[in-house]
Order: sequence, then C-alpha cells, then structure tokens
Amino acid sequence: MAAPNIETIVSLSKRRGFVFPSSEIYGGLGSAWDYGPLGVELCNNVKQAWWRWMVHERDDMEGIDSSIILNRSVWKYSGHEETFHDPLVDCRECKQRFRADHLLAEFTMQLQQEWRKENPDKPEPPPEVLFMGKGLQRGLGSFRTPGYIKCPACGKSNWTDPRQFNLMFRTTLGAVADEDDPAALAYLRPETAQGIFINFLNVQTTMRRKIPFGIAQIGKSFRNEVTPGNFIFRTREFEQMEMEYFVRPGEDERVHQEWIDYCFDWFKRLGIAPENLRFYEQPKEELAHYAKRTVDIHYRFFPERDDEERQWDELMGIANRTDFDLKAHSKKPEDEEGKRLNPDSTEDLSYFDEATKERYYPYVIEPAAGVNRTVLAVLMDAYTEKTTDKGEKRVVLKLHPELAPVKVAVLPLAKNKPEIVSTAKRIKSELQPAMRAVYDDTGGIGKLYARQDEIGTPFCVTVDHQSLEDEAVTVRDRDTWEQERVRVAELPEHLKKRLGIKC
Ligand code: ATP
Repeated sequence: MAAPNIETIVSLSKRRGFVFPSSEIYGGLGSAWDYGPLGVELCNNVKQAWWRWMVHERDDMEGIDSSIILNRSVWKYSGHEETFHDPLVDCRECKQRFRADHLLAEFTMQLQQEWRKENPDKPEPPPEVLFMGKGLQRGLGSFRTPGYIKCPACGKSNWTDPRQFNLMFRTTLGAVADEDDPAALAYLRPETAQGIFINFLNVQTTMRRKIPFGIAQIGKSFRNEVTPGNFIFRTREFEQMEMEYFVRPGEDERVHQEWIDYCFDWFKRLGIAPENLRFYEQPKEELAHYAKRTVDIHYRFFPERDDEERQWDELMGIANRTDFDLKAHSKKPEDEEGKRLNPDSTEDLSYFDEATKERYYPYVIEPAAGVNRTVLAVLMDAYTEKTTDKGEKRVVLKLHPELAPVKVAVLPLAKNKPEIVSTAKRIKSELQPAMRAVYDDTGGIGKLYARQDEIGTPFCVTVDHQSLEDEAVTVRDRDTWEQERVRVAELPEHLKKRLGIKC
C-alpha cells in the first residue's frame, strides 16, 4: 500500500517533524516549506544515495558544485532569457491566475474521457479530440472562445489573452545598482545544468577525461512558478540532482535509452513500487527548445483521482539535449555570413578525439530529478497502516533503510532504573559512529515503538532488566514487528548487516 493522497503525508510530516510550512508564524509564504529534523536527514540520505549511485559507483563520472548566480550571458546564450516561459491566463471574474497549458491539458483529458465513454468500442479519439497534440499555439486560442474552457475556481469562462511569463528570478548585483540597471541584472539559476556546461572544459582537462563521461551536480534551483502547490511537489525554490553525460554524436540515442532504464531502476532500488512508476514519452510539441527526445519518469502522486491518467506527474526528466548547449556557449560557431553566433564567449567547448583525430561538439544526455519530488514519492510509497492485536491503527513508514532518517532507536524498558538507562545510553553512543542512532525514554515501550514505526526507523533496540545480567538486548523489526535477542557485543555488526551498511 502507499499513502492514499498527499494530504496524509502533509499531516504526518508536520506531526512528526519532517516538513513544516515555511514562515508559519507570519502566515506562511505560499508554497514554501521548511525541512525539520527528520526531513533534513531524509533529504540528505536521498542526495547521498543518488551521489553514491551516480558518481561513486561508476568509473565515468565526476561531480561539481557550481554557483547559483552566474554571468547573465549564460542565460542569454542558453536560451533561457528568451524562452524559459510559461503561458499564463487570468480569470477576469474571480481574478485567479492559471497556467494556460495546464488548463488545456486538463480540458483535453476531459474531452478524451467523454469521447471514450461515448465510443467504448473505438480504440483512439480522432485528431480533433486530441487537439492538444497539434500544438499549444492553436490550443491557446481556445481561451478566446467563450464557454470553452471554464475557470477551475469560479466555473465562469471569461479569460484574458494568454501571455508568456519568464520564470527566472531576477536580482541585481552590487551596491551601486539601481533596481532596473541592466548592467547589474542577474538571475538565480532555474536549473543546475548550465553550471555544468560552462565547466565542461575545466573538468575534462583537469581530470583528463575522454568521451564518454558525465558530470553530476546537486543544488538549489529557483523558478517563479505561476501556480506552485501540492506540498513540496512544486515550489519556487527546490533542489535538483542533475547529470550531463557527454557522448559522441551518433551514440546519443543508444546511450539515452540506457540512461532511461538505469534511472527507472534507481527509483525501484530506493524501494518505490514499480506499479507506481511509469515512463512518459514527451510528444514533439512538449519538447524543450534544446531537446531531441525526452522521456519522463512519472510517479503516482495523485492516487485519489478517479481518472487513472490524472494520477501521474513528473518525478524526473531524461532528455537528449543534443550539442545545443556546448555549441551555444562556444566562441567558434558562425552563421552563413561568417558572423560568430556567440561573440561573448572566450572558449570553444568542442572536443578533440585523439583516437579518430576528429573534433566535434559532444551530444548530452541529461537525467534530471528533483530532490523534493523524490522525497515526496519516497514518503508516499513507504506509507502503510497496520492494525495491532488490540485493534489499534498504526502508521508504519516502510522506508528503505538507506533513506530512513534514524536507523536505530535505543529504548530503556524502565526509565527509573539508572543501570538500564546508562546501559541504553552507552549502547546508543557505541552505535553512533556507524549509523544514526537515537535514545528515547519519553513514554511507555508501546508508545515508543509506535513513534519509531511512524518515522520509519528500521530497528528498535530495547534494554531490559535481563540485559544487565546476560549482556543481550531485544532487536525489534519495524516491518514484521518480530523480536530477536542479540548479544550487545555483536549488536553493531548485526545491525550493519541487516541495514546493508557495507563499511
Ligand atoms: P514540470 O513540468 O513539473 O514543471 P519540468 O519538466 O519543468 O517540470 P525539469 O526542467 O525537467 O522540470 O526539471 C527536472 C526536475 O526538477 C523535475 O523532474 C522535477 O523533479 C524537478 N522540478 C522542476 N521544477 C520543480 C519545482 N518547481 N518544484 C520542485 N521540483 C521541481
């Protein structure tokens, strides 16, 4: 089982210290969220798991950490200044603002649903029903047709014309600038990828890398989303785990497919049920300006929705970005009249292949995942409910041990017995260097177990009266609730083995 909806995770997160609404004492800040003591551990574990899988376990990968604020030219030549837009519309009646493409997608889905109901024996709706596929441009016009698309908030159909809105956050650099000074204009990065492209040569030459190889990065990105929401699914400040894999042109399609499959496997490795994951091939009309093909991995973020098609949304995108970015940032490429396409760059980011004596701009395969969406998917998928012998409902968060914020909780059976307390504290500090361990004596043992189940702690270790005599403790398994007696001397090795900790 998984969480029945995101709301269940919102309340668990608040109750148990995973995620809090940001700036709550001042009424909150729209879509911003703060990670609490357990949330920060979970986030860090997701990032470490990704980094280990992506960088440390491979021979063809390097990592970097580039700046959030880059030279404005980066965003000029990457195409973000001109094209990183979302189309938005305002409802003239209730003044609410929406993403025009989201309303159209929703509307198209409704049309298709109605068509399928009326034509149960026909396989596919005709093109006029699938009109979204014919391009956003034609679709955007439908906001001008009265009665066509209705406002989700008030049900009326009185829209402004859709207009493009750039998602990059603007700021000014330095103390001298007045607010509109174009010379001081800078952006907070909307993706981490560009920091990798502009460092391609630095990494390749210092690490003496040959194509194919990849550069990975984890870091914050910022997008002034028109309609943020659904908890940590869509926020204006978020973290990305991105990797750019540089290949020889011609090898790109095969390598792209390999990465699509690896990435799907990674989410399964994290313990996400395959039936809650799917591939989504982006239709041509949806592709970003730089992409030749993009396949998204979707998670079932909205299981409560009746229509199966509306239950899914993007967890990760895996794009074939071609040689677009490296070429765009290079000083060499020229137009037909011999004019440089990029007069500001001081470097050529092409690659010389020693073996074939060829120079070319590598193609780039980019798997890009959100840390926060991964955390949400992992929490939703781990959520289970279990009934005790006494008929009480318990929440058990069956997190993969690698991701669990706390690996083991050491609990004294009697907190008024100093020897039991000091033994439990000693065991906790002996375990601490190898794994995240906590000590808790703030309730009866039943309550303490329930609390650890709810935050996903794989094991509880209980110290009782007998422990003082036989130097053994009880190890309780979160998922089976089975208990086993283990000698204290063997405890670290026993837990490390069961948690899958290798060194
Ligand atoms: P969407 O279509 O949901 O806006 P996108 O296709 O624009 O996402 P990408 O540019 O492919 O997203 O970014 C890669 C990943 O970064 C996404 O798969 C997602 O996990 C994450 N991401 C993007 N935007 C946000 C956001 N506003 N909040 C949280 N995570 C995000």
